[in-house]
Amino acid sequence: MDSESRLRTLFPRAEIGAAISRLAEEITRDYQDKRPVLIGILKGVFVFMADLVRQLDFPLEVEFVRLSSYGSGRETSGTVDVVQGLSCPIKARHVLVVEDIVDTGITVAFLMDYLEKQEPASRRLCALADKPSRRRVPVNIDYLGFTVPNKFLVGYGLDCDEQYRNLPDISFLED
Ligand code: 5GP
Ligand code: MG
Repeated sequence: MDSESRLRTLFPRAEIGAAISRLAEEITRDYQDKRPVLIGILKGVFVFMADLVRQLDFPLEVEFVRLSSYGSGRETSGTVDVVQGLSCPIKARHVLVVEDIVDTGITVAFLMDYLEKQEPASRRLCALADKPSRRRVPVNIDYLGFTVPNKFLVGYGLDCDEQYRNLPDISFLED
């Protein structure tokens, strides 16, 4: 993965911006009086979360969790560990989980169960991208940016072996 020539742009930054504006409108409509806790799944979500929250003009809190399901490669290991958990109680709070990509669904399904045990008032999911062709466990995505093909995406926070997170567009790596 040493050459930029293997990167093909899938969603240029303007298209991502338009998708985020649409998501922000939907989320604002549903949450503006609810003081939600947005819980981002690190690390991939950091760029998306930063752009999304800056379009949400109402009271909210931001939390991050770090989960491990992928090793250093491209395939999920099938088991999920909480590497860094929540730093605030979410009991009786409205929780919106923010994820970069729902792929097999294993990571986000695990987190939704984990959060449910803490008895939030509500719990929904916002994902930048959905790769439905790879799903192994059912996941309901309440707010979705893009449905994407079965390709390995990088850029806009998404990495391949920790590279490419800084690229402003979403691209895929050609095999
Ligand atoms: P899942 O548990 O749904 O299989 O995958 C969850 C995690 O895998 C996502 O949070 C995301 O970080 C990572 N992932 C899934 N597909 C891709 C992809 O195409 N590119 C990158 N960079 N990460 C991905
Ligand atoms: Mg992730």
